[in-house]
Amino acid sequence: VKSRSILGWWTVLFGGARLMTKKVAAQSRTGLGLNQIAALERTLNTRKYGRLIDTKKGSSYGKYEAVARVGEELTGFFTQHFSKKGSRVHFTLLGSKIANAYAIWQQSFETISLTSRMAMEVEALAGYVAKYLAERSSNDSGFSYVHDIPLESAEREAALKSLLLQGAVAFLIGHEAGHLAAGHKPILLGTAMATAQRKRRRTARGVVLDRVVMAKAVAGPAQQVKNSLRLNAHEVDADVQGIALTAAYWLSIRGELQTSTSPPVDAALMLEACAQPERLLLLASTGAAIALSMFGYKAFEADWSNQCTHPLTAVRCVVALGALGKLMIGHASNSALELCQECTEALMIVHQRLASLYLEAADADGQSSPVEQMLRAAAVDERMQLILRVTGIAQAVENSSALAGYLSELSAEFDSCGETRRPYIRVSEDSLLRWTAVEEKGEVSMA
Ligand SMILES: [Zn+2]
Repeated sequence: VKSRSILGWWTVLFGGARLMTKKVAAQSRTGLGLNQIAALERTLNTRKYGRLIDTKKGSSYGKYEAVARVGEELTGFFTQHFSKKGSRVHFTLLGSKIANAYAIWQQSFETISLTSRMAMEVEALAGYVAKYLAERSSNDSGFSYVHDIPLESAEREAALKSLLLQGAVAFLIGHEAGHLAAGHKPILLGTAMATAQRKRRRTARGVVLDRVVMAKAVAGPAQQVKNSLRLNAHEVDADVQGIALTAAYWLSIRGELQTSTSPPVDAALMLEACAQPERLLLLASTGAAIALSMFGYKAFEADWSNQCTHPLTAVRCVVALGALGKLMIGHASNSALELCQECTEALMIVHQRLASLYLEAADADGQSSPVEQMLRAAAVDERMQLILRVTGIAQAVENSSALAGYLSELSAEFDSCGETRRPYIRVSEDSLLRWTAVEEKGEVSMA
């Protein structure tokens, strides 16, 4: 891979010593010792989360290398300030046909994992969006500046892809790091124990797991998980804390780049993105929207606020991007759930690509889907609105008042667990972002 991730050279040039400093006897690139690897493999087997893809220190993860490198570096960046209540957080890649990300707490270590399927999908969608942005020249797009940068078109596309990939992986790793930072362990452990007791099964001691998205296979009727306000609240919190970490990451790159006397030659696009806070937000939010669309969308119906463990993806999009806009450009309006222009454009770009994927997929395999039929029947200029309805984003935005009520309910549940979480919080408490939505005189604002 020719282009080095921005964080890659950032670490080398400005980070000084590698973020990962703990010496390990074993030569695994994961940084885990042999016994730790064996323990992790037992957990993965029991849970059917996939198999550990291990490689020697200094060697490549092959076709997953680009995503894995970003995953490793972001795991280090997001967890380097954690208090010493646990050891280093490792990054691991799991061979699995299911696209997901996990946080796994073992007895002697923690790991944030991405599956190979997630790595492939996120890279493909980042590439698909980058190609579209590199080829399209639209004056009213916040990305129009990329065409003024003196780069060959292939270089422009590669640089865009690399940055979007970082933005997407930042959301995935950020979500899991958010669970770890904010002390969610006893809550998730409590739920895992209860589930095991119900199934009369022993859970491996000390193992707690989180997944970024409820896998479809798990959510089948045979294994119905009880709707949990508590889990939904902690998932929203992980998204919001992850967004705070993501914003800190982009702002730190900007800070380092702008004070550097000799920025790397391949940072031309990133330098231009840093020239205006809105450009950087658009880049960051497009990356986050790519990750979110990996989670799949469920119809926005009457049960939208009554999900088992994770809120609807559409709700997560609105909450996460709302928080990102607020953190990166101080976006403030009467309604925190009303997205700023950049976050809206990010969602539109990714949705435009999703609509194309529906149509291309049908062309490729000859199998028609209901969404594809609806898209074909619609006029071209109506397709965007249609796909925003299919994914529920349009409804989530329209129902901002109901959404605010739902968030207030989740936030009250979250606060009621404060004492349980406190001993497990790994960062200074005032660095954790508070989220709630309060409705006043018909207006929604984020407190
Ligand atoms: Zn989670």
